[in-house]
Amino acid sequence: MGAAEDTGSVGPGADPGAPDMHRLLARPVARRQVLVGGLALLVGGCAFAAGTEPSVPPATPLDILPTHDPTAPPTTAPTSGGSATGPVATPLPLPACRYRDVPVLGDPDRDWATLVLDTVYTLPEDWAPERLVGTRRVGLAGGFQVSRVMIDDLGGLADAARDAGVPIAIQSAYRSYAYQVTTFQGWVARSSEREARKVSARPGHSEHQLGTAVDLRSAGDATPPWELDDFATTPAGRWLAEHAWEHGFVMSYPRGADEETCYSYEPWHYRYVGRDAAAAITESGLTPRRYLWETYWAQR
Ligand SMILES: [Zn+2]
Repeated sequence: MGAAEDTGSVGPGADPGAPDMHRLLARPVARRQVLVGGLALLVGGCAFAAGTEPSVPPATPLDILPTHDPTAPPTTAPTSGGSATGPVATPLPLPACRYRDVPVLGDPDRDWATLVLDTVYTLPEDWAPERLVGTRRVGLAGGFQVSRVMIDDLGGLADAARDAGVPIAIQSAYRSYAYQVTTFQGWVARSSEREARKVSARPGHSEHQLGTAVDLRSAGDATPPWELDDFATTPAGRWLAEHAWEHGFVMSYPRGADEETCYSYEPWHYRYVGRDAAAAITESGLTPRRYLWETYWAQR
């Protein structure tokens, strides 16, 4: 699927069949509490809505995956017997969750659906979505903005949740680079850069800057979802885990996948990737980060 033409519609023959969500959801929980400055904090790419202080903060294991230099040119392996087709590129392994500032692979204006954005890859400081729109237009109040590319499916998600009896609300949506600078520096002031990196996405590294990530909660419960034991066990959270993909959204940081996602379990954080990609990711059983890497970027 080309991201450029992905407007969220399901193409012919794109029926993914039943999603194997159990592979994502049944992974063991690895919850570790980290206390910073006397506060229990949340680790994550979410790194907080304004005015809230998440309270779950598992430490993220770093540098656990096989490492490679993401800036290095692709390696090639010789083909046996001197194939006439020439050397075959060896797919690059998923980068380890190191703290780097490597420019994202691809053009965020064109490749917003497929970009790998993590602790390694970063968006340009001056990059913002081409067009931001208020979520009120699809009945989600709160003064939030998202990228225009996802507003229709976000509305569809909200409508479907309401129809299922589990209305949802937004806790956080688009966050600019500048906002993330303020957020991150606030954490540095409280503790240290080292500690801050564990509890807040560094500027440029948050999926919220893409304008396609939302933190969701139950409309009937104003409690920030990260203050719950496990949002995915609430009616709204469970419904999202089962149905968000149908509207083009995937849970970026599923349970027990810290080593691959670079962040701890965040059952409230959903990224819009379009319906085709969301269906494919869900059917694959892979984390979104691994799926996007292996599908779009490992063969550079
Ligand atoms: Zn988030």
